[in-house]
Amino acid sequence: MVDSHAHLHMISKNTDEVIERAKKEGVKYILCPSTSFEDIEEVALLSQRYEIVYSAIGIHPLYAENLEDSDLNRLEREILRFAEDRKLVAIGETGLDFRKGKNPRKQIEFFRKHLEIAEKISKPVIIHTRGEKDGKSAFSVAEEMLKDFNVSAVFHCFSWGKEEMNKAFERRFFISFSGNITFDRKLDEVIKQADIGRILTETDSPFLTPKPFRGKDENEPSYVRFVFKKISEIKEKDIKEISCKITENFEEIFLKK
Ligand SMILES: [Zn+2]
Repeated sequence: MVDSHAHLHMISKNTDEVIERAKKEGVKYILCPSTSFEDIEEVALLSQRYEIVYSAIGIHPLYAENLEDSDLNRLEREILRFAEDRKLVAIGETGLDFRKGKNPRKQIEFFRKHLEIAEKISKPVIIHTRGEKDGKSAFSVAEEMLKDFNVSAVFHCFSWGKEEMNKAFERRFFISFSGNITFDRKLDEVIKQADIGRILTETDSPFLTPKPFRGKDENEPSYVRFVFKKISEIKEKDIKEISCKITENFEEIFLKK
């Protein structure tokens, strides 16, 4: 199994134990994205310390909107510092959050910068999309912006509909399902129709704890098994087959030589 999006450094539990439990449950790869300038170093260190952990560097849109224009260059410098690190496999998380965000213009500016850098160093982008503004969804604005760049991308914590899913697949992007599929019924139909060759799985730890631990425990990568279980139930396929395929997808987008 894979957890393609876990903010390991934000989990308050003992990290050695979190990693051990994940391994015991059969998690092969964990991708840990940074969210601000402050946690980049920590994310890089975690990827050095644990063999199964890989890193992504980027600035979350809700953090980016409070930054200065001069920080655009700082972002590029920070990412390029790690460009040769073999464990850095993606740029992110970045994207657009129109639901909680107050400064979409700034978010767009930073998202564009991430895309530029990703294209420059040939890394895939991990994209957060939430909410809408002026009748346009964050997904559609992001999808439109991606047309200007030659990059591969994952729409993380995918919570949009079939139309958006098909758009993403047409452009050969991946979508990643998170713990919310265990309690958000409206995603069942999307999962049912999703091309198994284009999907990923994640926990978004420490957030979005899946059922049956929702409301009872902080999320952690070992709980990604509930996301796999849900997908296998909806698709009426063996969980081993699903795990195998999604692990291959992870290797295709992030670890391809
Ligand atoms: Zn995240």
